[in-house]
Amino acid sequence: MDDKKRVLVTGGSRGIGRAISIEMARAGCHVIINYRSNEAAAQDALRMVQEAGGDGELAQFDVADAAQTHDVLDGLLKKHKVIHTLVNNAGIAADTLLAMMPQKDWQSVIQTSLDGFFNVTKPVLTSMLRVKKGCSIVTISSVSGITGNRGQTNYSAAKAGLIGASKALAQEVARLGIRVNVVAPGLIETEMIKNAPLDIILKMIPMGRIGTPEEVAKLVRFLASDDASYITGQVISVNGGMV
Ligand code: NDP
Repeated sequence: MDDKKRVLVTGGSRGIGRAISIEMARAGCHVIINYRSNEAAAQDALRMVQEAGGDGELAQFDVADAAQTHDVLDGLLKKHKVIHTLVNNAGIAADTLLAMMPQKDWQSVIQTSLDGFFNVTKPVLTSMLRVKKGCSIVTISSVSGITGNRGQTNYSAAKAGLIGASKALAQEVARLGIRVNVVAPGLIETEMIKNAPLDIILKMIPMGRIGTPEEVAKLVRFLASDDASYITGQVISVNGGMV
């Protein structure tokens, strides 16, 4: 395992994150699968990583909880020294019109995305400074963070914030050889969209279908690889042609 690149996928146990975990295993990485509470799903994801011919481990922490994230990452970084690739994927939605939105729904969505970005990225980036070249960070934003979306002021703010943070960080570390990019998915088939009004949304997607987690994962794999060595500070959409 020592010569393998280590990748940490936050929220790597379900949905898009699980597909990314499997894809990164196929790319030859040791995959650290973070999850918040659903251990059975995390165990399933680890089994799928192994079935894909890879190896990995689970790391339970809530990315929005600074102390918990610090403690778990401290242990992981003592063990692995360097995490070469970070995929900031953990995110939640709590949709409602702003006029009706409870403050807790504003806070939890912002904290998961933005505090999560800070809590995880800072220590992992510090570990990357040991090797610099070939290290990269990919953060999962959303079409909602680019265009805004009715009923998602909290989510749109969180996802737009991730774009700003990533563009700034990309400039801070570009000369070190560390790349920072953002993937902005459109509608992707996961638990997160189980209550979405598909009949309305499908009309907004030129390709006329929702995407698969694997279609997002393949883009993340490319951006994390040396094939993307001159790409940093970018936001790349994977959304079936939505504008
Ligand atoms: P899912 O709800 O299917 O999965 C979410 C994953 O994130 C789970 O592994 C969950 O772990 C984990 N997670 C949630 N909160 C935390 C937390 N505080 N700390 C650690 N892990 C956490 O979501 P998707 O796969 O659909 O979404 C993944 C990312 O993609 C999100 O950032 C989302 O905003 C974004 N996205 C999704 C789109 C879609 O259409 N699905 C479109 C655009 C962007 P556990 O099960 O243990 O809680």
